Amino acid sequence: MSGGRRLGQNFIVNPFYIARLLLLSDIKSDDIVLEIGTGYGELTKKLCEKANIVISYEIDKKLFKNSQKRLTKYNNLILINGDALKTNYMFNKVVSNLPFYISKRFIYWLITKSFTSATVTLQKDFVEKLIAQPSSKNYKAISVIAQLAFKINIYDKIPPTAFYPIPKVFSYIVKFEPKNQFVLNDSLIKIINFIFTFRGKKVRTMIKHLSKNNFYNVERECKNLNINVNVEHFTPQECLYIAKILLNQKLFS
Ligand code: SAM
Repeated sequence: MSGGRRLGQNFIVNPFYIARLLLLSDIKSDDIVLEIGTGYGELTKKLCEKANIVISYEIDKKLFKNSQKRLTKYNNLILINGDALKTNYMFNKVVSNLPFYISKRFIYWLITKSFTSATVTLQKDFVEKLIAQPSSKNYKAISVIAQLAFKINIYDKIPPTAFYPIPKVFSYIVKFEPKNQFVLNDSLIKIINFIFTFRGKKVRTMIKHLSKNNFYNVERECKNLNINVNVEHFTPQECLYIAKILLNQKLFS
C-alpha cells in the first residue's frame, strides 16, 4: 500500500465541505482547536482565522515541512510533526478531515478526553456502525461504546469526488458531543468488546462461559435483565449494566 493510502491521505478539494466543517464546528475566538492531519493546510488556515489557538498535527514529514512553509503567517498556529492521538496539549474542540484508517482509534481516544465538540469526516460504513441500533447487522461493540459516550450528530453526506485522490466510498460529516462523560473506563470497554464476541449467542451463555461455578450469583445480579436473548439485542444501557456486574463480580482483571 502506498504511503498516501496507508496514512489516509485523501485531501478535501471541494471548498464547500471545508466551509461546512467550519460552520458545523462553530469555532469561536476563544477556542483551542486540535486538528488531526494538516495535509496541505486548507482547513488549517480557515481554523486559524476563527480560533484562539490551533494545534495541528501532521504525521507525514514531507507534508509537515510543506505546511510549515505555507502557513508561516498564522501566529496562533502550533504545527507538530507527529501522531495527533498522542498529543499532550489541552484543547476544547477537534476539527478534522480524519484519515480513515484512524477512525476506531479516534473514538477510543476521544472517550478519554475532555472536549466540547469534535467535528470530523468519517467513512459511511463506519458511521453506520456507530449509530447502528440493537439487533441490526451493523450493531457492534463500537456502536455501544460510541452511543454511551457521545451524542452523535450526522450532517452532510460527502461524495468521493470531494476528495483527491478519490476514495471508493462516501463519507459523512459527524459531530460528537460528550454525553455521560467518562462513564466508560478501560475495563468496561474491554468487557463490552468481550460481550460482542458472543454475537449470535445468548447472554446467558456468555455469563455461563465467564462465571463457571459462580453462575447463579451472577444470574441473581442480572435479575432486572432478560438474559435469554442474544447479546446483540441488548441496548447500550443494558450492555453497560451487565458490564458493570461482570466487573463487580471480578470476572475480569
Ligand atoms: N486536513 C487535510 C485536508 O482536509 O485535506 C488533510 C486530510 S487527510 C484525509 C488526513 C491527513 O492526516 C493526511 O495528511 C495524513 O498524512 C495525516 N495523518 C494520518 N495519520 C495521522 C496521525 N496519526 N496524526 C496526524 N496526522 C495524521
